[in-house]
Amino acid sequence: MSDNVWDYLGEYETERDDILDAVDTVFRSGQLVLGQSVKAFEAEYAAWHGMAHCVGVDNGTNAIKLALQAAGVRPGDEVITVSNTAAPTIVAIDSVGAVPVFVDVDSDTYLMDNSAVSSVVGPRTTCILPVHLYGQCVDLTELRALADAHDLILLEDCAQAHGARHRGRLAGTTGDASAFSFYPTKVLGTYGDGGAVVTDDDETARRLRRLRYYGMEERYYVVETPGHNSRLDEVHAEILRRKLRRLDSYIAARRAVADRYAAALAGTDLALPVVAPHNEHVYYVYVVRHPRRDEIIAALREYDINLNISYPWPVHTMTGFAHLGYAEGALPITEKLAGEIFSLPMYPALEPAKQDRIIDALQKVLAKL
Ligand SMILES: *Cc1c(COP(=O)(O)O)cnc(C)c1O
Repeated sequence: MSDNVWDYLGEYETERDDILDAVDTVFRSGQLVLGQSVKAFEAEYAAWHGMAHCVGVDNGTNAIKLALQAAGVRPGDEVITVSNTAAPTIVAIDSVGAVPVFVDVDSDTYLMDNSAVSSVVGPRTTCILPVHLYGQCVDLTELRALADAHDLILLEDCAQAHGARHRGRLAGTTGDASAFSFYPTKVLGTYGDGGAVVTDDDETARRLRRLRYYGMEERYYVVETPGHNSRLDEVHAEILRRKLRRLDSYIAARRAVADRYAAALAGTDLALPVVAPHNEHVYYVYVVRHPRRDEIIAALREYDINLNISYPWPVHTMTGFAHLGYAEGALPITEKLAGEIFSLPMYPALEPAKQDRIIDALQKVLAKL
């Protein structure tokens, strides 16, 4: 059987009884939409973060979209973010009519270069949207100070960073609101699509609840501001409740996989992940870098090992965002990275024997370059 960057079947074997019990619990509850499981998951996920509110939504992209709208980002506003991210970050900004403004990334961590933010703040800037890419946080102490100094909203894209910390603070607890995805591959993932926004602000939470429900207060069927249908399903909420109890162990397992890679690959000329000071990484993906990336990926395919690239095309170079007007070379570090990075298999149930096979193949390929 071939090895892939991500595989949930081992985890499902272990957790099958609990997952099927979650499904059965919902199906027998008599409430399939916005019932007890969503309510309970929201309370538990908010509490896990020490935050006042969590609002469950249908996916991570819409979590970002609704967070932008609830926080008051309007059409024509500029949102400062990065191009080295999953396209949905930018799709969400675009979907509310706002304009993404990109800064380059740090050449060690591949995360937002905070020192570049002030220079792109303009009269139409209303928001900074950092992405805690690959599982580690952007320096949030710095960004909170920058947002406050320029009177900007700070929204965190935490889709890859459940449980990551900066200076001891959890991802999602510094911004005015923070968006999470529970897509299956994520550090906390369900068996389908899901998402959530966490916030400490009561009014933002009320707006989010209306926005996900056509624009209605749940009990009064009057639309003041038209919203969307972006509800989290009961069945996903119940699965997520079960999996939230194991989130710490998933993260520990990911760190163990990362440690084994780091120990085995330290002597090679691969650039390994750099954990920034004060950060606790959760390794959503294990991203390495090599100038001859494409040859390495092709050679590993011969060993039945299929690697991914997160991400091969910086968003500002995609045809769908050509109207933003970024020329090639506009974000030199982001563009260089896109040609050199690749991801090694990373998931909690990756067995040491399987990982050893992957490491062994990779070492052979590197030696023959
Ligand atoms: C996965 C992801 C999203 C989108 O989440 P979906 O649930 O797939 O809509 C947004 N931003 C980042 C950084 C992601 O990794």
